Amino acid sequence: MPRMSVAADIAENLARVRAAITEAAVAAGRRPEEIRLIAVSKTQPAAAVAAARAAGQRDFGENTVQDAMSKIPAFAGKDIAWHFIGRLQTNKVKFIPAHFAWVHSVDSLALLQKVARASEGAGAMLDILLQVNISADPAKQGLAPDALAPLLDSYLRAPSPALRLRGLMTVPALDLPPAALRRAFADLRRLRDDTRTRFGLNAFDQLSMGMSDDFRLAIAEGATMVRVGQAVFGARAKKV
Ligand SMILES: *Cc1c(COP(=O)(O)O)cnc(C)c1O
Repeated sequence: MPRMSVAADIAENLARVRAAITEAAVAAGRRPEEIRLIAVSKTQPAAAVAAARAAGQRDFGENTVQDAMSKIPAFAGKDIAWHFIGRLQTNKVKFIPAHFAWVHSVDSLALLQKVARASEGAGAMLDILLQVNISADPAKQGLAPDALAPLLDSYLRAPSPALRLRGLMTVPALDLPPAALRRAFADLRRLRDDTRTRFGLNAFDQLSMGMSDDFRLAIAEGATMVRVGQAVFGARAKKV
């Protein structure tokens, strides 16, 4: 048997992941269109992004500004929405508005305000998710759940016209047993719902949760965005 090309592998993986998303949505009584697949292309070459785009994929996630900036310009005009999902260093914020449509990883008031100023300066509009450390894992980034309301109390005194606050994102602790993982996803959903009501934020309707190994569980608990890397592009050489 000849080896399949990498592009064919990616198209086939994408089809499999999309089918699994549909299946998980239907099992949860949800509409599959409510769930956006973000193909996490971190560490992958531009050719892998091109193969996924050719297979109909529109949303891509990157976790370092440097890696992203080496790929994004090649796809100008290709109708791609780029999502920043990694730790955002303050000295890289200035590059965000020209390259990304979404930022999933804002986890402090200072960072939110810095992103707002960059977006205003660029005449951009960014969709923002606040990252929450829902399982209180010391190794994970994100706001403590009870720090979310005070952050919003402060920010909403002078909200930026160049940002839309769209919801919450989380990366749960590694190796949680399925029941605990599911609880963590449900906790994030409740926190999103409570926050949306308490602050009257109608557009605060997104939940970015679930990766290659657990996106089905996340969909069962209400994920509207799943961030899937290895199940689309194959195993990464190293953990990043
Ligand atoms: C790498 C990464 C993903 C994708 O992980 P996979 O296991 O490859 O699906 C999702 N979210 C974040 C924040 C990541 O850094």
